[in-house]
Amino acid sequence: MAPKQVVVVGAGPAGLTTVEGLRRRGYDGEVTIIGDEPHAPYDRPPLSKRVLDGSWEPDRTQLRAEDQLDALGAEWRLGTPVEGLDLERRRIRMSGGDELPFDRLVVATGVVPCRLPFGHELAGVHALRTLEDAAALRADLLRGGPLVVVGAGPLGCEVAATARKMGLEVALLDLLELPMLPHVGREVAQRIAALHERRGIRLHLGVKVVALHGEAGRVAAVELADGRRLDASTALIAIGCVPATAWLRGSGVPLGNGVRCDETCRAAEHVYAAGDVAEWFNPRFSRRMRVEHRMNANEQGTVVAANLLGAAVVFEPVPHFWSDQYDVKLQAHGFLAPDATVTVEPHGADEAKFAAVYHRNGVVEGVLGWNIPRELRSYRTAIGSAMQPVPA
Ligand SMILES: Cc1cc2nc3c(=O)[nH]c(=O)nc-3n(C[C@H](O)[C@H](O)[C@H](O)COP(=O)(O)OP(=O)(O)OC[C@H]3O[C@@H](n4cnc5c(N)ncnc54)[C@H](O)[C@@H]3O)c2cc1C
Repeated sequence: MAPKQVVVVGAGPAGLTTVEGLRRRGYDGEVTIIGDEPHAPYDRPPLSKRVLDGSWEPDRTQLRAEDQLDALGAEWRLGTPVEGLDLERRRIRMSGGDELPFDRLVVATGVVPCRLPFGHELAGVHALRTLEDAAALRADLLRGGPLVVVGAGPLGCEVAATARKMGLEVALLDLLELPMLPHVGREVAQRIAALHERRGIRLHLGVKVVALHGEAGRVAAVELADGRRLDASTALIAIGCVPATAWLRGSGVPLGNGVRCDETCRAAEHVYAAGDVAEWFNPRFSRRMRVEHRMNANEQGTVVAANLLGAAVVFEPVPHFWSDQYDVKLQAHGFLAPDATVTVEPHGADEAKFAAVYHRNGVVEGVLGWNIPRELRSYRTAIGSAMQPVPA
């Protein structure tokens, strides 16, 4: 039976796509979408790139025009944090104590940045997740460097590249010995390190930050475990994120590395999850996964919409992400396991374009393109098939 009242918590791309999917499938019941941010759904990837360097006005990140949102016929409650869930009574509790009943609930609350146990009270110390975060970080970058980026994952690498292009002195730090190591493995991570070094970034790898020091309430230095102090007028803490599930604790919705779902993205009776917050079983790879990538939010929201209306679509995507650093476009499909064997196939005479093919036991598990958006399509179709010998 079709639900009468669907409530979606989280007004990001996963929540938006779920609502759009419901309407596209002809659902004409009530839909309420609740978000703690004051904004209509917007796109986060430009926050570390074009919004940060000022080449895009923040408004350009809006995912839909106002009339497109109106046409969805949904009730929008923005600037409204949800604080709890009563699963038995099928109600959510919002800040201020108001309750809202539902037939079906979609959890699309994304993730929140991790914090260091110290230093966040100092001016000039930033996280980057929201439009407001991007505006605050940009304002500090415009004051000039040095910028210290703690965490050399995709976000830290992108912000380091953007700040460098803006002319700042930048130090990029990580506990691991290479940037983006868990995301792309050693072979490609070495090339990312070389890329940043060539652009004048000071890399400090295999180091631990033990303190942030301030002067007159503003960050002035970042202290490493070996005693070194790096000058900083701004610091970005980009050490990863945790799923935004605090409001679900004790509710009965299973939590693990996110909201634990089955292969149809169903977490409990009447409850589904989509996007960065969802940990689900992907039968294509026979493993549970949680993916913090933009396209996954869309694809999962679309599948959840179908399943809310009674389908039982199994969600088994090939994961995909991209990252833009300087003039390099990295695009990846599938699994880039750190222990896979990587074969690099050059596209052109220099190292400016190549494909990295990740394979184990003779089977291609993932591919990464370095500035080869068109050529990458044919590599993508090879995922799951036998590794072909590289032409001599
Ligand atoms: C700076 C930056 C750059 C990125 N770049 C890339 C990139 O290059 N490539 C890529 O593939 N991915 C990138 N990503 C990741 C991508 O943006 C995310 O995968 C995507 O936003 C996930 O969408 P979502 O709807 O699941 O979550 P979100 O976009 O996080 O939306 C969830 C919403 O729910 C709200 N919420 C949380 N808790 C509550 C609550 N209790 N009550 C009400 N509302 C709540 C949140 O505030 C948020 O507005 C980037 C992310 C960031 C931050």
